Amino acid sequence: MQTSILGKHAQHKKLEFNILQISQDAKALKKKYNDVIDATVGMLHHEEGNVFKFQTVEDALYHLSDSETYHYAPVRGTEKFREGLFDWVFGKYAEDFRKIFKYSIIPTTGGSAAISNTFYNFNDFDQKVLLPNIFWSPYTNFALEANIKLKTFKMYDDEYKFNLKDFKKEAFKLAEEQGRLCLLLNDPCNNPTGLCMTLDEWREVIKTLNEINNTGVPVVLIHDIAYIDYQLISTELSRDTFSTYYDLNDEILVVVIFSGSKTFSMYGFRVGAQIGLSKSQKIIDDFTRVGDYSVRGRFSSVSQPGINVIEHIFTSPENKRKFKEELKIGRKLLKDRATLFIEAARKNDLVTYPYCGGFFISIPTKNKNIFKDLVDEHVFIIPMQGLIRVAISSLPLKDIPDLVKKIKKHI
Ligand code: PLP
Repeated sequence: MQTSILGKHAQHKKLEFNILQISQDAKALKKKYNDVIDATVGMLHHEEGNVFKFQTVEDALYHLSDSETYHYAPVRGTEKFREGLFDWVFGKYAEDFRKIFKYSIIPTTGGSAAISNTFYNFNDFDQKVLLPNIFWSPYTNFALEANIKLKTFKMYDDEYKFNLKDFKKEAFKLAEEQGRLCLLLNDPCNNPTGLCMTLDEWREVIKTLNEINNTGVPVVLIHDIAYIDYQLISTELSRDTFSTYYDLNDEILVVVIFSGSKTFSMYGFRVGAQIGLSKSQKIIDDFTRVGDYSVRGRFSSVSQPGINVIEHIFTSPENKRKFKEELKIGRKLLKDRATLFIEAARKNDLVTYPYCGGFFISIPTKNKNIFKDLVDEHVFIIPMQGLIRVAISSLPLKDIPDLVKKIKKHI
C-alpha cells in the first residue's frame, strides 16, 4: 500500500539552497539595516539600486496591440522573432550558418525551460549529462525533473585554465559507458566563475565531440550562452566561438540556449529559446518535433508580450541601433564594478577566479560556514561548490571596498 501522498520519484525533491529565496532574505534585512550588502541577484541593477531597464524595451512594450499582449503566443513564436534571434545570436556568422546548417528555433519560458526541455528530450532516463564541476545550481533541478543525472569533470587545471585533459577523459568514459554524450557548457562568462574559454579550447572540445561521434555515439552539445552579451570583449568578438562550429560532424546536434532575461533585462517575462543546429536535416526535424511537443506538454507557449517586444527590436533597424547603445551602458556598469572589485581583491590579497565578463565574480573558499559568517556581517553572497559567488550585476561601486574586506576576513 502507498503511504505517501507524493509519487515515488518526487520523494526527494527539496530546494536546498534557493538563490531566489536568499535574495528575498537580503531584501528583508535591508529594510531594517542600512549597512546590508546584497550581492546575490543575477539581475543587472543601476548604481542607485533600481533594475537596469532598456528604454527600447519599455517603448516597444507600451506600444503593443491587444493581440500582441493578450493572445496566446504560437508554440513556435513568429518567424520574425525566430530569424531576428538567429541574427542576434550568431551575428556575423548568421548568414553562413543559414547555408551550412539546418536549424530550428523553439521559444521557451526563459533559458531555464530551454535547458530543461533539452535535458528531457535528448537523454534516456537515468543517463548523465556531462558538465564542469562548478556550475549554476538549477542545472541539478532541471536534471532531477527530467529523470536524468549529472556527471562532472574538473573545470580548471592548476593554472586556472579550462581543464581540457579532464574534460576529454570524462567525455570518452561517459560516452563508452552509456553510448551517448550530452555535454553542457555555459560559456562565455560562466555563471558562477566568469570563465571564458579560448578559441583553441573550443576547437579541442569540438574535435573531441567529433572523435566520440565517429565511434557511432550520438552527441549533443548544449551551449548555454546566457551572458554572451556581457563579455568584456566586444559583442562582435564574443561570437567568434561559433566559428568552431564549422568543423562539427554532420550528425552532431548543438542546442544553443538563449536567455531573454539577461540580454533584454526581461527577467520576469520568461522568454528564451532553444536554437537547434545540425548539418543533418533528419536531426533538426527530430529536434523540432520533440521541441514543439514539449513546449506544449510541459510549460505551454511563452509570453506573448515578451516575444513581441523582442521582435519589435529585431525588426526595426532604428530600435536595434538604440538597443545596442543602451546595452553599452549596461556593459560598462559591469566593467567598472569588475575593475574595482579585482583591484580591491589584489590590494587585499584575495584570490578570485579569472573574470572575463558577465554578472559574477567568484572566490574560492574552504570555509564551510562562509554563508553564515558573512550574513552575520550583513553581507549576502551565494555559496556554491567550494566558492562564493558575488553578483556584481546588483552590487553598487560604493559597497565594493567594504565587501572585499569582509570576504577576506572570512574566506
Ligand atoms: N543559464 C545560466 C547560466 C543562468 O545563470 C541563467 C539565469 O540565471 C539562465 C541560463 C536562464 O535564465 P532565464 O531562465 O531567466 O532565461
